[in-house]
Amino acid sequence: MNSIILKPGREKSLIRKHPWVFSGAIQRLEGSPEPGETVSVLSADRKFLGYGAYSPNSQITVRIWTWDRDEEIGPAFFRCKIKQAVRLRDELAIPSQTDAYRLIFSESDSIPGLIADRFGEYLVCQFSSAGAEYWKPDIVQALKESVPCKGIYERSDLGVRKKEGLRDSTGLLWGDKPPEELRISEAGRLFGINIAGGHKTGHYLDQRENHSLVQEYASGRTMLDCFSYTGGFSIAAMKGNASHVSLADSSAPALALAAQNAALNGFPESVYTLIEVDIFKLLRTYRDDNKTFDMVVLDPPKFVESKNQLEKGARAYKDINMLGIKILNPGGLLFTFSCSGHMEDMLFQKIVADAALDTGRELRIVRWLTQAPDHPVASGFPESKYLKGLMAIAT
Ligand code: SAH
Repeated sequence: MNSIILKPGREKSLIRKHPWVFSGAIQRLEGSPEPGETVSVLSADRKFLGYGAYSPNSQITVRIWTWDRDEEIGPAFFRCKIKQAVRLRDELAIPSQTDAYRLIFSESDSIPGLIADRFGEYLVCQFSSAGAEYWKPDIVQALKESVPCKGIYERSDLGVRKKEGLRDSTGLLWGDKPPEELRISEAGRLFGINIAGGHKTGHYLDQRENHSLVQEYASGRTMLDCFSYTGGFSIAAMKGNASHVSLADSSAPALALAAQNAALNGFPESVYTLIEVDIFKLLRTYRDDNKTFDMVVLDPPKFVESKNQLEKGARAYKDINMLGIKILNPGGLLFTFSCSGHMEDMLFQKIVADAALDTGRELRIVRWLTQAPDHPVASGFPESKYLKGLMAIAT
């Protein structure tokens, strides 16, 4: 079999079940595997560590499929891992809360490079590694056998595919094409989803529980939803009887969908305002005009894409948090998030604390928030915890 032999001492992270082999850890390759093909990973003294997918174009040269020497990587392996992932969601009773959730979360569900989201009766997949791409037909077959659905659609149009030497790929993989606007219910909140054209695979499933939290606290409050996208937090706030919701985003199509979502949930236009704007500008305008809110949500896109952007990203987070806190009424609630995996929880908390300090306001953190449980974190792979958030009260 094709094998990767590591440099002496470089087996340590694999023994701790971290599933990545970086190119710099490799002493030599034995055999001539195709991209995506299975290789054995061996320590310098030839001890078996795991089977993984070979990706010659990536810095992450191997992603481990299994640590078990007796497990064969093939259709039965994918069926088994998919069933395991489905069972985990069932055990957490996720399907009874929502019909839109993450079914397979890549490394955390032992299928590195595969994301599969359920949107009602359809599955939407992203194949982001050479290994997942190599096994795509078997994975699709295993999905359709193990997960009752009408169709499986591919949204593999993400930057990281380039690093794996793969081109974008989108379209129907199996079954019926999803309707242009699919309706999902997230904990009783209705959303129209555009599978072919939406962000990620169509909806920010990772924020489901945080949307619910905002719903819980919204009653009678005015809210500013910064980076609203299609209204994940805003619809929740309306459902929670917010007195008025302002949705701000730079994307006109996202705001148009947000308006449709408000209508879908039975809310009249008088309950909300759509603002197509750059948030950095809007917050400054509100600060200068002394416009204030009872609740502010800050859910920006990833400001830190790689480690060397950390400082610049940190400044951007501090900026919006400082302005967000400034425009809160006394006793107002801040819900602030970072989905940058490179930003550690404590650093984010420190940035928010520094932001509060600059405003001269007192801020008390009352909850630490994260991604919904259908985005589990394999204990050997802490990188998969990427979403962090704080709920805080400003006095
Ligand atoms: N809160 C949303 C998800 C937000 S995704 C939810 O829970 O569903 C991030 C959003 O930020 C995108 O809709 C994008 O259009 C918007 N965005 C990115 N940069 C922006 C900027 N500078 N000003 C305003 N919106 C921005």
